Amino acid sequence: VNAPGEFELIERFFTARGAAREDVLLGVGDDAALLAMPPGAELVLALDTIVAGRHFPPDANGRAVGHRVLAVNLSDFAAMGAEPAWALLGLTLPASDEIWLDAFASGFDELARRFGVALVGGDTTRGPLCATVTLAGWVPAGTALRRGGARPGDDLWISGTPGDAGAGLAILQGRLAATGAVREELLRRFLLPEPRVQLGLALRGIATACIDVSDGLAADLAKLCRASDAGALLDAARLPRSAALTTAAGDTAALQLALSAGDDYELVFSAPPAARRRIEKLDSAVAVHCIGEITEVPGVRVEGAALERDAAHGFDHFDD
Ligand SMILES: [Mg+2]
Repeated sequence: VNAPGEFELIERFFTARGAAREDVLLGVGDDAALLAMPPGAELVLALDTIVAGRHFPPDANGRAVGHRVLAVNLSDFAAMGAEPAWALLGLTLPASDEIWLDAFASGFDELARRFGVALVGGDTTRGPLCATVTLAGWVPAGTALRRGGARPGDDLWISGTPGDAGAGLAILQGRLAATGAVREELLRRFLLPEPRVQLGLALRGIATACIDVSDGLAADLAKLCRASDAGALLDAARLPRSAALTTAAGDTAALQLALSAGDDYELVFSAPPAARRRIEKLDSAVAVHCIGEITEVPGVRVEGAALERDAAHGFDHFDD
């Protein structure tokens, strides 16, 4: 049985959301969307589902959930160096809470407009709170970044300051104490992650491999290494940590969070040392740091920290 007024809800909250794009020949309102692909492009598709209580706190506000469900997909596009263009949204709601829905739609809409994504269709059903986005877009043929392709001797880079989102989650769950601006900053980093789309696009033709950090730096780097049939040596001293993270968690826990906490949605990538100057000069809205190198020896090793074994297994300092 459909929720009462389902179509009214779709009309009210999801028509004309996101960016207006000329390549949308038919969007919300027909049986399917009709989209014009640019000539010579390869279609890129990603799908991510987020579930209350698993991927976000059940009491998270609508804006944060609407932002997150698109941000996690945009982050996968960033990792591929792909241009996001069109999104389909599936939303399962326990009840038609209009205030929550309005906030959800605003969070989604704000991020979609910022990244030029049009909402071209969707579906709503009644059930436990859960949101799915299918994101579509493209790359010029042959230019997509992949996980495989890192070569021994390549530099290893990361964007932003990993660990902040993990600290934000720990604060929300009462496992870490923080106050004032530090608390606000870390909560924002968890609740409203910023996908690194611009950086991913700028890395086409430069990076040899790339992945986004959703499960934790060490765990996601291990995936990149396996796909590249190589390993990585990471220098703990060169790992960027935000002042907010160090203030809230202290040096040791900050390093562990930076290595193993999830939800940062930063990019980890490899590139030849000859590309160093080019990478440092990239105009990508986020700082990047060289944190180590790709090795022939398989696996992820961390230099300068007494937590190598745990870190490589996605260790979470705050978990009991
Ligand atoms: Mg990913």
